[in-house]
Amino acid sequence: MAKIAINIATGSLQKEEIIVGIDLGTTNSLVAIIHPDTKQAVALKEHDSSSLLPSVVHFDEHSNIMVGEVAKTMLVQAPERTIFSAKRLMGKSYNDIRDNAGNFSYKIIDDNTESLVKIQVGDKFYSPVDLSSYILKELKHRAEHILKTPVNKAVITVPAYFNDAQRQATRDAGRLAGLDVLRIINEPTAASLAYGIGISREEHKTIAVYDLGGGTFDISILRIAGGIFEVLSTNGDTYLGGDDMDHAIVDHWKKSLNISENEIQKDLSLNQSLRLHAETAKKQLSAEDNYEAALGQYKLKLGKAEFETLIHPLIDKTIQSCKNALKDAALKTTDIDAVVMVGGSTRVPAVKSAVGSFFGKEVNDSVNPDEVVALGAAIQADILAGNNKELLLIDITPLSLGIETAGGLMDVLIPRNTKIPSKASRQYTTQVDAQSGMRISVFQGERDLVQHNRKLAEFNLSGIPGMLAGLPKVEVSFLINADGILTVAAKELRSGVEQSIEIKPQYGLTDNDVEKMLLDSITHAKDDISARALAEARTEGEQLLKTTERFLQKNASLLSQDELLKTAAAMQALQLAVTMEDKDLVQAKTEELNEISRPYAERIMDEAVSGAMKGKSI
Ligand code: ADP
Ligand code: MG
Repeated sequence: MAKIAINIATGSLQKEEIIVGIDLGTTNSLVAIIHPDTKQAVALKEHDSSSLLPSVVHFDEHSNIMVGEVAKTMLVQAPERTIFSAKRLMGKSYNDIRDNAGNFSYKIIDDNTESLVKIQVGDKFYSPVDLSSYILKELKHRAEHILKTPVNKAVITVPAYFNDAQRQATRDAGRLAGLDVLRIINEPTAASLAYGIGISREEHKTIAVYDLGGGTFDISILRIAGGIFEVLSTNGDTYLGGDDMDHAIVDHWKKSLNISENEIQKDLSLNQSLRLHAETAKKQLSAEDNYEAALGQYKLKLGKAEFETLIHPLIDKTIQSCKNALKDAALKTTDIDAVVMVGGSTRVPAVKSAVGSFFGKEVNDSVNPDEVVALGAAIQADILAGNNKELLLIDITPLSLGIETAGGLMDVLIPRNTKIPSKASRQYTTQVDAQSGMRISVFQGERDLVQHNRKLAEFNLSGIPGMLAGLPKVEVSFLINADGILTVAAKELRSGVEQSIEIKPQYGLTDNDVEKMLLDSITHAKDDISARALAEARTEGEQLLKTTERFLQKNASLLSQDELLKTAAAMQALQLAVTMEDKDLVQAKTEELNEISRPYAERIMDEAVSGAMKGKSI
């Protein structure tokens, strides 16, 4: 049913409330809508200007905020007051970005390495959520100016690798900008929609979406069948993009022109000038063979072949991700029907040809790669508005979700690449007698030890009635909704005690203490099987120590002096072993204690049984 509203500003009748699609990019952002007449997705722009709004925020001396092209020109003049690539800081702690901190010319606060980053400009502090909200506000204003109607609802896209904290941060930025964020969707999913719209119900296709933007790289494998878009797998790198090409060029010039770090330190704007020249050079080399410019005393030069050598490792990395994504989807390159190019950096001919030759087919770049994500978001917005009931969307979780179990191990409840919305549950029990509470720590990542994964939240299930260890049945269930937001619930089934939380990791808006944030796990996946084995061996050893102790408390009088001495020695050895890093040693000492205690444990058990039998008349 169409809604009717009155535009108070103009007094005119409005047929339907408009929902816009927004690509909130690391480098560039833009808004798109479905044109009411043509029903086609179009990017909004003012007259002849570009549809792209540079994702740059500048603060003047009086803390006035400027966003976009104006702000971008301030990168050179006032680098410490001009913030770019803030999206890379969304939901991150200083620990997460320490290695890359040198790439930011503004001040990132590092007093507490585990809390979320803040950016200092003058005497004011801004969170990445604040900064993103300024960009969104500018986009909202632009759209309202162009459409001459209020814009209050939006679909916003995020990279497929964004975790829950980052998605939630994006949602909050939207709210701060005065937008009701109806849905957060993955950029590659949006891009596929932009290419997929109008596909007939009979059409069946498997496609790869290759998105190389300014700051992030995503590869997604999608299956489109019967009007349904299904993401089979995703892979990528949140620190790989056109910016890195620019950095490679800057480094190359610094080396070849003998520009020392000292000089850069003295003159921060020199670095920014080099960066801007590098980007210009890169873009020019997408069409021409040479770049030449003068920067003060320096003559900047770059040939196409030279440039391609510089970025070769970067392109290689993306191809490696493509391989991984195919592997996760259990597909071969020959299974891919089409390859879709997304992001400004896919205009580089060497990128196109590398991707084309890897997949063994010509790549698809008919939709403007800068706009394709926003266009897809507009199509999603149209679906949500109920205008396009033909299409349905299935998304997946990019990272595994689970909880911490004994020994600091990660127990995965929802594996990565699971379709969402999704639900999973598993039962756990207590480790000590009369344990009345159970700590549920929720983690995200692919590593075996939770210490290497990212902690999302933690809560206590309390009020479990006193029972022997192993008796309580605590069911932990995970539910991910269509936005990728997770709800975790824990319930003790015998008593009915329950507790649940919606995971809204603490950051930004309320200045709460922030959950411990750990490095993204993807790049380290699967190299710690031995750590898991050690943790398991330790848990087993500790368990045996506990049961032996309990056994001795009850039955010490039934043991010989020799048995007691040997047991004490073996327990001591095992106690020492579990504090060390040697899995084999822990297992050996566990086995030794077992060997010593087994005979008398069996003997005492037999006696107890026959004793019990004696008293019974059958
Ligand atoms: P994001 O999604 O990260 O906001 P975009 O998709 O807007 O990024 O892509 C921005 C990147 O594309 C920048 O690094 C920019 O330099 C690069 N880019 C834009 N046009 C070209 C071009 N013609 N040749 C090479 N790179 C380009
Ligand atoms: Mg993008």
